Amino acid sequence: MASSTLFESVALRDRYRRVYSAEPRIFRAPGRVNIIGEHTDYNDGFVMPAAIALYTRVAVHHRAMGCITAQSENLGQRAFIDFDEPNPAPRHDWSDYVRGVALAIRSSGRSLEGANLLIQGNVPIGSGLSSSASLEVATALALLGVSGLELSRTEIARLCQSAENNFVGAKTGIMDQFTSCHGREGHALFLDCRSLEYHYIPIPRNAGLLVCNTMVRHSLASGEYNLRRQQCSEGVRLLSTVLPEISSLRDVSRSALDEHRELLDETIYRRCLHVVNENNRVTKAGIALLDGALKAAGELMNASHESLRGDYEVSCPELDLMVNLARDCPGVFGARMTGGGFGGCIVCLIDKAKANQIARAVTDGYKAHTGIVCETYFCPTADGADEELI
Ligand code: ADP
Ligand code: MG
Repeated sequence: MASSTLFESVALRDRYRRVYSAEPRIFRAPGRVNIIGEHTDYNDGFVMPAAIALYTRVAVHHRAMGCITAQSENLGQRAFIDFDEPNPAPRHDWSDYVRGVALAIRSSGRSLEGANLLIQGNVPIGSGLSSSASLEVATALALLGVSGLELSRTEIARLCQSAENNFVGAKTGIMDQFTSCHGREGHALFLDCRSLEYHYIPIPRNAGLLVCNTMVRHSLASGEYNLRRQQCSEGVRLLSTVLPEISSLRDVSRSALDEHRELLDETIYRRCLHVVNENNRVTKAGIALLDGALKAAGELMNASHESLRGDYEVSCPELDLMVNLARDCPGVFGARMTGGGFGGCIVCLIDKAKANQIARAVTDGYKAHTGIVCETYFCPTADGADEELI
């Protein structure tokens, strides 16, 4: 464990002692960056994310009554979750992630002990690096741990996804939770979102992932996300009239899509085109990384961005600007938006040795064009969620 990481855990433990007068166990779950494969997860397709060394930590100790107290240090807020509450409804705030996870575990037939939680995260919130999944997974580990329950990492990922889908109300795919559970240091995760079969792909030692945050998040993001999902479903419905064997865009080849293009209006066609092409790009990028072909992998990331901008229409001027600034820097193999879109972050595959120069050039260029001071994160890859033993 890196010493700075250890320091953060010790500090959290000490604060926990002061808040709850008890000795906690500490669980942590990483955020993730999606290297390539955007908007493919909910189409049963392929993604290639990596867990990153930014974490949400949950300190936990048993509590006598059948209820949970959760305090977020990031937000300075406390929430109370009563297991006996009939028909618990979402509060539409951060505590829904904790409540949703507790409910999902309980609805799977497991009984939870009461718990006092203290939550601290350094995954930037709402930027596409999946602070939400890292909060869910760390919470799940903490609640299960204090209750003496052991579940597989894949079961935990599924329960957390169901909490986010069914209680929080965000219809996300399983990528975020799966990566937070299964990440491996030094590797990307090539994941088949249908079968959940996965492969670890080593990231060449001279390469790194630089994430730059546009610091904007346009308000249409969640509405447009749900609209894209509907458009993909509509594409599948129309295509399945002539391709009865398909159940998702994952099953549609580029040639079949083009052959039956007349069934789709222009917008639906372009949405489907992105997903079909993106699935092909993820596979090619996985092979390129395995071969150590960083330039080829970077070009696929560039193509992914163009497709998200032009065909899927989920980019925005700030993301496009930042991607162009990054691509102009020596040492950048490729750059693309990452996450749902309409703001948030870009991810760049870079020559690790040039990380500082690239981060500075993007920051300066972005400030000169927008007046906004952006944040950049050089993201070492990380292992998946676990208990932190200090
Ligand atoms: P992302 O997952 O890309 O960071 P989301 O909108 O999916 O963005 O999730 C962000 C939400 O997750 C926050 O608005 C908050 O409700 C919750 N969250 C994440 N981290 C924390 C934390 N440390 N404390 C409290 N809530 C958190
Ligand atoms: Mg999220």
